[in-house]
Amino acid sequence: MPEHSANQLPSYLNPDNPGPWGNYLEQVDRVAPYLGNLSQWIGTLKRPKRVLIVDIPVELDDGTVAHFEGYRVQHSMVLGPGKGGVRYHPDVNLSEVMALSAWMSVKTAAVNVPFGGAKGGIRLDPRNYSPRELERITRRYINEISTIIGPNTDIPAPDVNTSGQTMAWMMDAYAIKNGVTAPGVVTGKPISLGGSLGRVEATGRGVFVVGSAAMKDAGIDMQDARIAVQGFGNVGGTAARLFAESGARVVAVYDHTGVIHDKQGLDTVALAEHVRNTGGVKGFNNADTLSPQEFWALKTDVLIPAALENQITEDNAGSIRTRIVVEGANGPTTPAADDILTDNGINIVPDVLANAGGVSVSYFEWVQNTTSFFWSEEEVNSRLEVMMKNAYADISATARQHQVSLRTATFIAACSRILEAQDARGLFP
Ligand code: NAD
Repeated sequence: MPEHSANQLPSYLNPDNPGPWGNYLEQVDRVAPYLGNLSQWIGTLKRPKRVLIVDIPVELDDGTVAHFEGYRVQHSMVLGPGKGGVRYHPDVNLSEVMALSAWMSVKTAAVNVPFGGAKGGIRLDPRNYSPRELERITRRYINEISTIIGPNTDIPAPDVNTSGQTMAWMMDAYAIKNGVTAPGVVTGKPISLGGSLGRVEATGRGVFVVGSAAMKDAGIDMQDARIAVQGFGNVGGTAARLFAESGARVVAVYDHTGVIHDKQGLDTVALAEHVRNTGGVKGFNNADTLSPQEFWALKTDVLIPAALENQITEDNAGSIRTRIVVEGANGPTTPAADDILTDNGINIVPDVLANAGGVSVSYFEWVQNTTSFFWSEEEVNSRLEVMMKNAYADISATARQHQVSLRTATFIAACSRILEAQDARGLFP
Protein backbone atom coordinates (compact mmCIF):
# COMPACT_ATOMS: atom_id res chain seq x y z
CA MET A 1 0.00 0.00 0.00
CA PRO A 2 1.50 3.39 -0.94
CA GLU A 3 2.48 5.52 2.04
CA HIS A 4 0.01 8.25 1.05
CA SER A 5 -3.00 5.89 0.88
CA ALA A 6 -6.03 6.84 2.99
CA ASN A 7 -6.25 3.17 3.93
CA GLN A 8 -2.85 3.31 5.57
CA LEU A 9 -3.34 3.27 9.35
CA PRO A 10 -1.83 6.40 10.97
CA SER A 11 1.68 5.51 12.16
CA TYR A 12 0.77 6.61 15.68
CA LEU A 13 -1.57 3.58 16.07
CA ASN A 14 -0.43 0.02 16.60
CA PRO A 15 -1.09 -1.80 13.27
CA ASP A 16 -1.50 -5.14 15.09
CA ASN A 17 -4.09 -3.74 17.46
CA PRO A 18 -5.80 -0.62 16.12
CA GLY A 19 -8.41 -0.83 18.93
CA PRO A 20 -11.80 0.93 18.64
CA TRP A 21 -10.51 3.00 15.70
CA GLY A 22 -10.29 -0.31 13.78
CA ASN A 23 -14.01 -0.95 14.49
CA TYR A 24 -14.89 2.51 13.25
CA LEU A 25 -12.89 1.97 10.01
CA GLU A 26 -14.85 -1.25 9.36
CA GLN A 27 -18.11 0.67 9.71
CA VAL A 28 -16.93 3.29 7.21
CA ASP A 29 -15.84 0.62 4.73
CA ARG A 30 -19.31 -0.94 5.03
CA VAL A 31 -21.11 2.25 3.94
CA ALA A 32 -18.65 3.14 1.15
CA PRO A 33 -20.61 1.24 -1.55
CA TYR A 34 -23.69 3.39 -0.84
CA LEU A 35 -21.99 6.75 -1.20
CA GLY A 36 -21.81 6.97 -5.00
CA ASN A 37 -19.41 9.64 -6.29
CA LEU A 38 -18.95 10.99 -2.77
CA SER A 39 -16.89 7.90 -1.95
CA GLN A 40 -13.92 9.69 -3.64
CA TRP A 41 -13.72 11.72 -0.40
CA ILE A 42 -13.99 8.80 1.98
CA GLY A 43 -10.31 9.06 2.91
CA THR A 44 -11.16 12.25 4.82
CA LEU A 45 -13.29 10.14 7.18
CA LYS A 46 -10.49 7.60 7.67
CA ARG A 47 -8.07 10.03 9.26
CA PRO A 48 -8.80 12.43 12.12
CA LYS A 49 -8.24 16.02 11.06
CA ARG A 50 -6.16 16.82 14.14
CA VAL A 51 -4.79 14.87 17.11
CA LEU A 52 -3.35 16.61 20.16
CA ILE A 53 -1.67 14.77 23.05
CA VAL A 54 -0.68 16.92 26.02
CA ASP A 55 1.24 16.56 29.25
CA ILE A 56 -0.67 17.85 32.28
CA PRO A 57 1.75 18.54 35.16
CA VAL A 58 -0.14 19.30 38.38
CA GLU A 59 0.81 19.79 42.02
CA LEU A 60 -1.09 17.33 44.21
CA ASP A 61 -2.43 18.17 47.67
CA ASP A 62 0.64 16.57 49.30
CA GLY A 63 2.99 18.91 47.40
CA THR A 64 4.32 16.36 44.89
CA VAL A 65 4.00 16.90 41.13
CA ALA A 66 2.06 14.39 39.03
CA HIS A 67 1.90 14.11 35.22
CA PHE A 68 -1.27 13.11 33.39
CA GLU A 69 -1.77 12.33 29.71
CA GLY A 70 -4.52 14.34 28.01
CA TYR A 71 -6.00 14.07 24.52
CA ARG A 72 -8.16 16.15 22.21
CA VAL A 73 -8.96 14.69 18.80
CA GLN A 74 -10.84 16.60 16.11
CA HIS A 75 -12.11 14.04 13.64
CA SER A 76 -14.04 16.25 11.24
CA MET A 77 -14.84 19.95 11.16
CA VAL A 78 -16.35 20.03 7.69
CA LEU A 79 -19.91 20.73 8.89
CA GLY A 80 -19.00 23.04 11.76
CA PRO A 81 -16.96 23.32 14.97
CA GLY A 82 -15.79 20.08 16.56
CA LYS A 83 -18.13 18.77 19.25
CA GLY A 84 -17.69 16.05 21.82
CA GLY A 85 -17.22 15.22 25.47
CA VAL A 86 -14.16 14.84 27.66
CA ARG A 87 -13.77 11.55 29.50
CA TYR A 88 -11.78 10.98 32.69
CA HIS A 89 -10.90 7.28 32.90
CA PRO A 90 -7.78 5.19 33.53
CA ASP A 91 -8.31 3.29 30.23
CA VAL A 92 -8.49 6.40 28.01
CA ASN A 93 -6.14 5.98 25.04
CA LEU A 94 -5.56 7.50 21.63
CA SER A 95 -7.41 4.86 19.61
CA GLU A 96 -10.47 5.15 21.86
CA VAL A 97 -10.55 8.96 21.73
CA MET A 98 -10.10 8.86 17.93
CA ALA A 99 -13.00 6.42 17.51
CA LEU A 100 -15.25 8.37 19.88
CA SER A 101 -14.46 11.58 17.97
CA ALA A 102 -15.43 9.91 14.69
CA TRP A 103 -18.69 8.58 16.16
CA MET A 104 -19.45 12.17 17.23
CA SER A 105 -19.05 13.25 13.58
CA VAL A 106 -21.59 10.57 12.64
CA LYS A 107 -23.97 11.50 15.48
CA THR A 108 -24.01 15.26 14.81
CA ALA A 109 -24.44 14.74 11.05
CA ALA A 110 -27.17 12.12 11.65
CA VAL A 111 -29.39 14.63 13.45
CA ASN A 112 -28.36 17.51 11.18
CA VAL A 113 -26.65 19.54 13.88
CA PRO A 114 -24.12 21.91 12.24
CA PHE A 115 -21.14 20.58 14.18
CA GLY A 116 -18.25 18.28 13.40
CA GLY A 117 -16.96 15.52 15.66
CA ALA A 118 -14.32 15.71 18.38
CA LYS A 119 -13.55 14.03 21.70
CA GLY A 120 -11.16 14.44 24.59
CA GLY A 121 -9.93 12.55 27.57
CA ILE A 122 -7.51 12.40 30.46
CA ARG A 123 -6.00 9.11 31.48
CA LEU A 124 -6.71 8.96 35.21
CA ASP A 125 -9.04 7.44 37.79
CA PRO A 126 -10.83 10.48 39.26
CA ARG A 127 -11.63 8.55 42.46
CA ASN A 128 -7.94 8.82 43.38
CA TYR A 129 -7.93 12.64 43.43
CA SER A 130 -9.53 15.32 45.60
CA PRO A 131 -11.95 17.87 44.09
CA ARG A 132 -9.22 20.55 44.35
CA GLU A 133 -6.77 18.27 42.50
CA LEU A 134 -9.37 17.52 39.80
CA GLU A 135 -9.99 21.24 39.41
CA ARG A 136 -6.26 21.90 38.89
CA ILE A 137 -5.99 18.97 36.42
CA THR A 138 -9.02 20.24 34.47
CA ARG A 139 -7.78 23.84 34.31
CA ARG A 140 -4.29 22.80 33.18
CA TYR A 141 -5.78 20.46 30.54
CA ILE A 142 -7.82 23.34 29.12
CA ASN A 143 -4.75 25.55 29.18
CA GLU A 144 -2.87 22.95 27.13
CA ILE A 145 -5.62 22.44 24.53
CA SER A 146 -6.78 26.08 24.47
CA THR A 147 -5.07 26.74 21.14
CA ILE A 148 -7.47 24.38 19.36
CA ILE A 149 -10.77 24.83 21.25
CA GLY A 150 -13.19 27.74 21.20
CA PRO A 151 -16.88 28.51 20.58
CA ASN A 152 -16.29 28.49 16.81
CA THR A 153 -13.61 25.80 16.60
CA ASP A 154 -14.21 22.95 19.05
CA ILE A 155 -16.67 22.72 21.94
CA PRO A 156 -16.10 20.15 24.74
CA ALA A 157 -18.92 18.70 26.91
CA PRO A 158 -19.29 16.21 29.79
CA ASP A 159 -18.71 12.48 29.27
CA VAL A 160 -17.82 9.58 31.57
CA ASN A 161 -16.75 10.94 35.00
CA THR A 162 -17.05 14.62 34.05
CA SER A 163 -19.95 16.87 35.04
CA GLY A 164 -21.44 20.36 34.97
CA GLN A 165 -18.85 21.34 37.59
CA THR A 166 -16.03 20.16 35.30
CA MET A 167 -17.53 22.27 32.49
CA ALA A 168 -17.67 25.31 34.79
CA TRP A 169 -13.91 24.96 35.51
CA MET A 170 -13.21 24.49 31.79
CA MET A 171 -15.19 27.57 30.82
CA ASP A 172 -13.55 29.66 33.53
CA ALA A 173 -10.02 28.52 32.58
CA TYR A 174 -10.65 29.32 28.91
CA ALA A 175 -12.23 32.70 29.73
CA ILE A 176 -9.36 33.77 32.00
CA LYS A 177 -6.65 32.62 29.61
CA ASN A 178 -8.20 34.48 26.68
CA GLY A 179 -9.56 37.50 28.58
CA VAL A 180 -13.05 36.91 27.24
CA THR A 181 -16.49 35.78 28.35
CA ALA A 182 -17.12 32.71 26.25
CA PRO A 183 -19.91 30.52 27.63
CA GLY A 184 -20.21 28.79 24.21
CA VAL A 185 -16.77 27.18 24.56
CA VAL A 186 -18.33 24.22 26.43
CA THR A 187 -21.84 22.80 26.79
CA GLY A 188 -23.44 20.87 29.62
CA LYS A 189 -22.74 23.83 31.93
CA PRO A 190 -24.72 24.61 35.09
CA ILE A 191 -27.76 26.81 34.35
CA SER A 192 -26.15 29.66 36.33
CA LEU A 193 -23.34 29.82 33.75
CA GLY A 194 -25.50 29.68 30.63
CA GLY A 195 -26.46 26.01 30.57
CA SER A 196 -29.72 25.09 28.82
CA LEU A 197 -32.96 24.11 30.44
CA GLY A 198 -33.89 20.59 29.34
CA ARG A 199 -30.25 19.46 28.85
CA VAL A 200 -30.29 16.96 31.74
CA GLU A 201 -33.28 15.06 30.35
CA ALA A 202 -32.44 15.55 26.67
CA THR A 203 -30.87 12.17 25.91
CA GLY A 204 -33.68 10.19 27.56
CA ARG A 205 -36.27 12.38 25.86
CA GLY A 206 -34.61 11.74 22.48
CA VAL A 207 -34.69 7.98 23.18
CA PHE A 208 -38.42 8.29 23.85
CA VAL A 209 -39.07 10.34 20.67
CA VAL A 210 -37.26 7.97 18.28
CA GLY A 211 -38.51 4.90 20.17
CA SER A 212 -42.10 6.13 19.76
CA ALA A 213 -41.52 6.77 16.04
CA ALA A 214 -40.11 3.26 15.57
CA MET A 215 -43.12 1.80 17.42
CA LYS A 216 -45.49 3.68 15.13
CA ASP A 217 -43.65 2.32 12.07
CA ALA A 218 -43.97 -1.20 13.48
CA GLY A 219 -47.70 -0.72 14.21
CA ILE A 220 -47.22 -1.03 17.98
CA ASP A 221 -49.83 0.86 20.01
CA MET A 222 -48.29 2.90 22.84
CA GLN A 223 -51.19 2.09 25.17
CA ASP A 224 -50.12 -0.88 27.27
CA ALA A 225 -46.98 -1.50 25.18
CA ARG A 226 -44.42 -3.42 27.28
CA ILE A 227 -41.10 -1.64 27.84
CA ALA A 228 -37.98 -3.04 29.56
CA VAL A 229 -35.08 -0.76 30.49
CA GLN A 230 -31.52 -1.55 31.51
CA GLY A 231 -30.11 1.43 33.43
CA PHE A 232 -32.31 3.78 35.42
CA GLY A 233 -29.98 6.79 35.49
CA ASN A 234 -30.13 9.98 33.51
CA VAL A 235 -30.97 8.29 30.19
CA GLY A 236 -32.92 5.16 31.20
CA GLY A 237 -34.81 6.83 34.05
CA THR A 238 -36.02 9.71 31.88
CA ALA A 239 -36.96 7.48 28.93
CA ALA A 240 -38.86 5.07 31.22
CA ARG A 241 -40.84 7.91 32.81
CA LEU A 242 -41.79 9.40 29.42
CA PHE A 243 -42.95 6.03 28.06
CA ALA A 244 -45.02 5.44 31.22
CA GLU A 245 -46.55 8.94 31.00
CA SER A 246 -47.62 8.13 27.43
CA GLY A 247 -49.52 5.02 28.50
CA ALA A 248 -46.92 2.27 28.05
CA ARG A 249 -46.11 -0.21 30.82
CA VAL A 250 -42.53 -0.26 32.07
CA VAL A 251 -42.53 -3.93 33.03
CA ALA A 252 -38.89 -4.39 34.04
CA VAL A 253 -35.91 -2.30 35.12
CA TYR A 254 -32.37 -3.65 35.47
CA ASP A 255 -29.65 -1.62 37.19
CA HIS A 256 -26.41 -2.35 39.05
CA THR A 257 -28.42 -3.49 42.12
CA GLY A 258 -30.60 -6.03 40.28
CA VAL A 259 -33.73 -6.50 38.16
CA ILE A 260 -37.28 -5.61 39.24
CA HIS A 261 -40.41 -6.69 37.39
CA ASP A 262 -44.14 -5.98 37.40
CA LYS A 263 -46.19 -7.07 34.43
CA GLN A 264 -48.84 -4.45 35.22
CA GLY A 265 -46.18 -1.73 34.91
CA LEU A 266 -43.90 -0.12 37.50
CA ASP A 267 -44.59 3.33 38.93
CA THR A 268 -41.59 5.11 37.39
CA VAL A 269 -41.97 8.31 39.45
CA ALA A 270 -42.02 6.40 42.75
CA LEU A 271 -39.15 4.24 41.47
CA ALA A 272 -37.03 7.33 40.72
CA GLU A 273 -37.65 8.51 44.29
CA HIS A 274 -36.66 5.05 45.61
CA VAL A 275 -33.43 5.14 43.54
CA ARG A 276 -32.62 8.64 44.84
CA ASN A 277 -33.11 7.42 48.42
CA THR A 278 -31.47 4.00 48.26
CA GLY A 279 -29.04 4.19 45.31
CA GLY A 280 -30.71 1.49 43.17
CA VAL A 281 -33.92 -0.27 42.12
CA LYS A 282 -33.46 -3.20 44.53
CA GLY A 283 -36.20 -3.52 47.17
CA PHE A 284 -38.72 -1.31 45.35
CA ASN A 285 -42.28 -1.77 46.65
CA ASN A 286 -41.82 -5.52 46.94
CA ALA A 287 -41.71 -5.84 43.14
CA ASP A 288 -40.76 -9.30 41.77
CA THR A 289 -37.10 -9.82 41.07
CA LEU A 290 -35.64 -11.52 38.00
CA SER A 291 -32.20 -12.76 37.02
CA PRO A 292 -30.37 -10.85 34.25
CA GLN A 293 -31.01 -13.83 31.94
CA GLU A 294 -34.75 -13.63 32.65
CA PHE A 295 -34.66 -9.87 32.02
CA TRP A 296 -33.20 -10.28 28.52
CA ALA A 297 -35.64 -13.07 27.68
CA LEU A 298 -38.78 -11.13 28.74
CA LYS A 299 -41.43 -10.79 26.05
CA THR A 300 -41.62 -7.05 25.41
CA ASP A 301 -42.36 -4.55 22.65
CA VAL A 302 -39.37 -2.27 23.30
CA LEU A 303 -36.08 -3.01 25.03
CA ILE A 304 -33.88 -0.06 25.99
CA PRO A 305 -30.28 -0.79 26.97
CA ALA A 306 -29.29 2.49 28.70
CA ALA A 307 -26.49 1.47 31.06
CA LEU A 308 -23.16 0.32 29.65
CA GLU A 309 -21.47 -0.82 26.46
CA ASN A 310 -21.38 -4.51 25.34
CA GLN A 311 -24.51 -5.65 27.22
CA ILE A 312 -26.20 -7.48 24.32
CA THR A 313 -23.71 -10.09 23.18
CA GLU A 314 -23.65 -13.46 21.42
CA ASP A 315 -24.44 -14.98 24.84
CA ASN A 316 -27.85 -13.35 25.34
CA ALA A 317 -28.89 -12.02 21.90
CA GLY A 318 -30.53 -15.30 20.90
CA SER A 319 -32.81 -15.24 23.95
CA ILE A 320 -34.10 -11.69 23.42
CA ARG A 321 -37.82 -11.58 22.62
CA THR A 322 -38.58 -7.95 21.94
CA ARG A 323 -39.66 -6.20 18.76
CA ILE A 324 -37.51 -3.07 18.91
CA VAL A 325 -34.20 -2.35 20.65
CA VAL A 326 -33.59 1.37 21.23
CA GLU A 327 -29.93 1.93 22.15
CA GLY A 328 -29.82 4.61 24.85
CA ALA A 329 -26.27 3.68 25.88
CA ASN A 330 -23.27 4.00 23.58
CA GLY A 331 -22.27 0.67 22.01
CA PRO A 332 -24.58 -1.64 24.04
CA THR A 333 -24.81 -4.24 21.24
CA THR A 334 -21.77 -6.11 19.92
CA PRO A 335 -21.56 -6.54 16.11
CA ALA A 336 -22.14 -10.31 16.42
CA ALA A 337 -25.22 -9.75 18.61
CA ASP A 338 -26.46 -7.13 16.15
CA ASP A 339 -26.47 -9.82 13.41
CA ILE A 340 -28.36 -12.26 15.66
CA LEU A 341 -31.05 -9.70 16.56
CA THR A 342 -31.43 -8.66 12.92
CA ASP A 343 -31.72 -12.31 11.79
CA ASN A 344 -34.46 -12.74 14.41
CA GLY A 345 -36.43 -9.83 12.93
CA ILE A 346 -35.72 -7.40 15.77
CA ASN A 347 -35.38 -3.78 14.66
CA ILE A 348 -32.51 -1.84 16.27
CA VAL A 349 -32.57 1.95 16.59
CA PRO A 350 -28.79 2.54 16.85
CA ASP A 351 -27.01 4.62 19.50
CA VAL A 352 -25.71 7.18 16.99
CA LEU A 353 -29.35 8.12 16.33
CA ALA A 354 -31.20 7.08 19.50
CA ASN A 355 -29.03 8.91 22.04
CA ALA A 356 -28.34 12.00 19.91
CA GLY A 357 -30.84 14.06 21.97
CA GLY A 358 -27.99 15.08 24.28
CA VAL A 359 -25.85 16.57 21.54
CA SER A 360 -28.93 18.19 19.99
CA VAL A 361 -29.66 20.13 23.19
CA SER A 362 -25.93 20.88 23.51
CA TYR A 363 -26.33 22.55 20.13
CA PHE A 364 -29.33 24.50 21.48
CA GLU A 365 -27.22 25.52 24.49
CA TRP A 366 -24.51 26.82 22.14
CA VAL A 367 -27.10 28.71 20.06
CA GLN A 368 -28.50 30.31 23.23
CA ASN A 369 -24.96 31.26 24.36
CA THR A 370 -24.15 32.70 20.93
CA THR A 371 -27.27 34.86 20.87
CA SER A 372 -27.39 35.52 24.66
CA PHE A 373 -31.11 34.82 24.46
CA PHE A 374 -32.45 31.94 26.52
CA TRP A 375 -35.34 29.62 25.74
CA SER A 376 -38.02 28.13 27.98
CA GLU A 377 -37.87 24.42 28.76
CA GLU A 378 -40.99 23.85 26.61
CA GLU A 379 -39.25 25.50 23.66
CA VAL A 380 -36.13 23.35 24.11
CA ASN A 381 -38.23 20.17 24.36
CA SER A 382 -40.38 20.93 21.35
CA ARG A 383 -37.38 21.81 19.15
CA LEU A 384 -35.68 18.61 20.32
CA GLU A 385 -38.74 16.59 19.36
CA VAL A 386 -38.82 18.11 15.86
CA MET A 387 -35.09 17.49 15.36
CA MET A 388 -35.22 13.85 16.49
CA LYS A 389 -38.42 13.08 14.56
CA ASN A 390 -36.97 14.54 11.36
CA ALA A 391 -33.72 12.62 11.82
CA TYR A 392 -35.62 9.36 12.38
CA ALA A 393 -37.84 9.99 9.32
CA ASP A 394 -34.81 10.70 7.05
CA ILE A 395 -32.86 7.71 8.29
CA SER A 396 -35.74 5.25 8.12
CA ALA A 397 -36.40 6.42 4.54
CA THR A 398 -32.70 5.77 3.73
CA ALA A 399 -33.00 2.30 5.30
CA ARG A 400 -36.04 1.49 3.15
CA GLN A 401 -34.41 2.87 -0.01
CA HIS A 402 -31.26 0.75 0.35
CA GLN A 403 -32.88 -2.17 2.21
CA VAL A 404 -30.39 -1.87 5.05
CA SER A 405 -30.57 -1.69 8.85
CA LEU A 406 -31.15 1.61 10.65
CA ARG A 407 -27.52 1.47 11.84
CA THR A 408 -26.14 1.27 8.31
CA ALA A 409 -28.70 3.87 7.17
CA THR A 410 -27.56 6.27 9.90
CA PHE A 411 -23.95 5.93 8.71
CA ILE A 412 -25.04 6.40 5.07
CA ALA A 413 -27.06 9.55 5.89
CA ALA A 414 -24.35 11.02 8.13
CA CYS A 415 -21.35 10.21 5.90
CA SER A 416 -23.22 11.51 2.83
CA ARG A 417 -23.88 14.84 4.55
CA ILE A 418 -20.26 15.23 5.66
CA LEU A 419 -18.84 14.25 2.27
CA GLU A 420 -21.29 16.40 0.32
CA ALA A 421 -20.00 19.39 2.29
CA GLN A 422 -16.42 18.20 1.70
CA ASP A 423 -17.12 17.94 -2.02
CA ALA A 424 -18.50 21.49 -2.12
CA ARG A 425 -15.57 22.86 -0.12
CA GLY A 426 -12.88 20.97 -2.04
CA LEU A 427 -9.29 20.79 -0.87
CA PHE A 428 -7.04 23.60 0.28
CA PRO A 429 -4.65 24.52 -1.19
P1 NAD B 1 -26.04 7.21 34.73
O1 NAD B 1 -24.77 7.08 35.50
O2 NAD B 1 -26.99 8.30 35.08
O3 NAD B 1 -26.87 5.82 34.85
C1 NAD B 1 -26.28 4.60 34.59
C2 NAD B 1 -27.27 3.50 34.94
O4 NAD B 1 -26.67 2.24 34.56
C3 NAD B 1 -27.57 3.39 36.43
O5 NAD B 1 -28.94 3.10 36.60
C4 NAD B 1 -26.74 2.19 36.87
O6 NAD B 1 -27.30 1.50 37.97
C5 NAD B 1 -26.80 1.32 35.64
N1 NAD B 1 -25.72 0.34 35.64
C6 NAD B 1 -24.39 0.56 35.90
N2 NAD B 1 -23.72 -0.61 35.87
C7 NAD B 1 -24.62 -1.57 35.58
C8 NAD B 1 -24.54 -2.98 35.43
N3 NAD B 1 -23.37 -3.61 35.55
N4 NAD B 1 -25.67 -3.66 35.11
C9 NAD B 1 -26.85 -3.02 34.99
N5 NAD B 1 -26.98 -1.69 35.13
C10 NAD B 1 -25.89 -0.97 35.43
O7 NAD B 1 -25.59 7.27 33.20
P2 NAD B 1 -26.40 7.88 31.97
O8 NAD B 1 -25.99 9.31 31.80
O9 NAD B 1 -27.83 7.52 32.09
O10 NAD B 1 -25.72 7.10 30.74
C11 NAD B 1 -26.10 5.77 30.40
C12 NAD B 1 -25.52 5.42 29.04
O11 NAD B 1 -25.95 6.37 28.07
C13 NAD B 1 -23.98 5.44 28.92
O12 NAD B 1 -23.62 4.45 27.98
C14 NAD B 1 -23.68 6.80 28.34
O13 NAD B 1 -22.44 6.82 27.64
C15 NAD B 1 -24.85 6.93 27.38
N6 NAD B 1 -25.12 8.31 26.98
C16 NAD B 1 -25.46 9.24 27.92
C17 NAD B 1 -25.74 10.54 27.51
C18 NAD B 1 -26.17 11.58 28.49
O14 NAD B 1 -26.50 12.70 28.05
N7 NAD B 1 -26.24 11.29 29.78
C19 NAD B 1 -25.65 10.89 26.14
C20 NAD B 1 -25.31 9.90 25.21
C21 NAD B 1 -25.05 8.61 25.65
